[in-house]
Amino acid sequence: MSVMILIFCALFTFFLFLIYTVFPTLVIRIFGVRIIQKISDEKSIALTFDDGPDPDYTHQLLDLLKRFNVKASFFVVGEKVKHNPEIVRRMHAEGHTIGIHHFHHISSWIMSPFRLREQLRLTEEIITECTKEKVYFYRPPWGHFNLFSLLVGRKYSIIMWNKIFKDWKTDICKNNLLEKLHANNEGGSIFLLHDSGVTLGADQEAPKYMIKKLEKFLEESRRNGIKFISLNELYQFDKKTRVI
Ligand SMILES: [Zn+2]
Repeated sequence: MSVMILIFCALFTFFLFLIYTVFPTLVIRIFGVRIIQKISDEKSIALTFDDGPDPDYTHQLLDLLKRFNVKASFFVVGEKVKHNPEIVRRMHAEGHTIGIHHFHHISSWIMSPFRLREQLRLTEEIITECTKEKVYFYRPPWGHFNLFSLLVGRKYSIIMWNKIFKDWKTDICKNNLLEKLHANNEGGSIFLLHDSGVTLGADQEAPKYMIKKLEKFLEESRRNGIKFISLNELYQFDKKTRVI
């Protein structure tokens, strides 16, 4: 009898976990509830970079973007901003958009609503210290939402992506990232790339090869007349992109 009760309790706890984590994530992502997965400018691509700022790679990436006069968007981890504020100041000075990617790179699935609110508040605070501007954009790590994410993050526009390349793996960056970038260069797309390789499941050197392939992609894109846009630039003509 007691074994049955234990099994029932375990199943019930698992069911509650799904209700709090996987179900909201699937509903929000499949039905596109309150999230942006494509941009309204069908002639441009929005390059977005997660997980930085990284002391080894983000400056290299910023040098590359500067060389091609491309404005991008960075979803930064608050604790890394704390250790590398000068990189975020540079991003801002060079016209890139900066959004929140939690203070610690932790999934919303294992956070209470109160902890999530704290993660957003702390990251916004540290970004604002660098930029002296409000923060409008948010992307949760791994694209994970919990039951309260939309409520807690209601003051931000939540930016997801429609093109992902597994660029956190060195092998993929070396072998087929460039082909994948070319194959997916449709206007209106949001590309998800990563300028740091120290998060769980990533290869530390992957951004080094991502930057090399991105350089080739930008060279060829320039020849083919493909345009790139940051989220702040997009907002100049599409007020709906922002919720505030
Ligand atoms: Zn991430």
